[in-house]
Amino acid sequence: MLGNTSKLHIVRAGSDITYSSLKVIGNQILDAFRGTIQEFQLTRHKAPVVDSIDAYFLTKILDQEYGGHVLGITDADLKTKDADAFYNCIFGGKNPHNDVAVVSTKKLCTDRIDSNKAYKLFLDRTLKVSLHEVGHNLGLTDHAAYQTAQDGTLCPMSRGEYNKFGYIGYIRAIIDGRGTNFCDECEYFLQKMHGRRHRWTRLVKDGLESTIGIKRLRRGA
Ligand SMILES: [Zn+2]
Ligand SMILES: [Zn+2]
Repeated sequence: MLGNTSKLHIVRAGSDITYSSLKVIGNQILDAFRGTIQEFQLTRHKAPVVDSIDAYFLTKILDQEYGGHVLGITDADLKTKDADAFYNCIFGGKNPHNDVAVVSTKKLCTDRIDSNKAYKLFLDRTLKVSLHEVGHNLGLTDHAAYQTAQDGTLCPMSRGEYNKFGYIGYIRAIIDGRGTNFCDECEYFLQKMHGRRHRWTRLVKDGLESTIGIKRLRRGA
């Protein structure tokens, strides 16, 4: 987290996701980071479609071309220089030297996208990986353990252990297990660092207001 992160630039490289679906994902990201990210802008990255790209290189290109807080979503495989075969191909990554994160949709669909259900699952996985990487842009760190949000789903920052599951098992156990609400630890961080209001603050406030309303009514009666 280096600069102003309240505006997110979502840059799409590839064609697996429609523009309107990306808009839905953008709004879901805003909702999950409400109070922290105020708006998003969608841009189509004009670059030839490639089969795979170095993750670090892509973050550098996106930083140079767009700058600021960026989430790149690409169809291409993201490669890293890590010798480990699994880590060599990653779902998403974040460059610690800027505010650019990238997500690859290439391995998020284990079957063919031939039904609405399969497409919905594919979008849901893209959202979950995006929330994780944008979370890193905002300074959140990985949970090695299974940390849950108040609704019982895994916090988007849950990382788990890759090698325990293999990548398809990992998608099902960790990525599909994540929700869109953050755990208390992450919520606390977002409140402290970004001054965001807790999701339940409004409900409590509404409760207080209605209590005051009742008192006034009683007094008036
Ligand atoms: Zn992570
Ligand atoms: Zn968390």
